[in-house]
Amino acid sequence: MNENDALFLSSFYPKEVKINQVIENNSGITILLKSMTHSHVCPECGQTTKSYHSTYRRRIQDLPILGKSVYLNVTAYRYKCENSSCDQKVFSEELSGFTGKYRRMTSRLEDFIITLALNTSCEGTARICKQMNINISGDTVIKILLRNAQSIDPKCGEFIGVDDWAYKKGHTYGTIICDGASHKPIALLDGRDGSALKEWLKNNQHIKIVTRDRASSYAKAIVEALPQAMQIADRFHLHQNLLKAIKDALGREVPARIMIPSEDSGPISSDSTTVDEPDSKKK
Ligand SMILES: [Zn+2]
Repeated sequence: MNENDALFLSSFYPKEVKINQVIENNSGITILLKSMTHSHVCPECGQTTKSYHSTYRRRIQDLPILGKSVYLNVTAYRYKCENSSCDQKVFSEELSGFTGKYRRMTSRLEDFIITLALNTSCEGTARICKQMNINISGDTVIKILLRNAQSIDPKCGEFIGVDDWAYKKGHTYGTIICDGASHKPIALLDGRDGSALKEWLKNNQHIKIVTRDRASSYAKAIVEALPQAMQIADRFHLHQNLLKAIKDALGREVPARIMIPSEDSGPISSDSTTVDEPDSKKK
């Protein structure tokens, strides 16, 4: 095997860690990583220290590899702050950008779960993750989403999009707000009755354009909180409106059964060939 047909596992991990061992068995893959740092910046005073205090271990879940669950056993350092006037005597080093403080999964796994949850539901995400051998419960998906929503930068442009999304499809719904320019989520609110949206909009009076779904509760909230803002239906919901209008019109205008004449004789029995009636007229 040469360099052109091999994947180098180390290229998927931060430069400051070294892979010591990879253990693969039926239950998954465990990768033993060790920090190779010699210094760290104190999170309290910002001074760089080279003074080791001790080591600590963390177990972090990562994205699966070819359907196998992946756990990282990371051995990292605790450092002593050398600034005598600093209140932080000892601190644990962080693999910034790779995983957060106290997190049990890598940032890339968390990003994947957030994207999945915003496009399906929390319970649906947990079911899909189980199939992919990612160990996570629906409750943990909700916790990740809420934590992410709280850390979202509340600043956004003058153009936003509002839609509902499911914590649990058919049971618990929330409201998601995305920035119209970046398309990134900027807030996750409880419920979809418009009350949480109204409060959020009152604190964001600079917004001028809101695209929304067909829900009248959102329209009412926007009018009450931002009477000057322009409301726009997005293309997806316009399609939905159009399809519903066509279906309603067909249901009203087209008879439930239409005789189709046979080629050699007159009309044939309605029992043998008919056009299906629209769903709305089915019993
Ligand atoms: Zn310090």
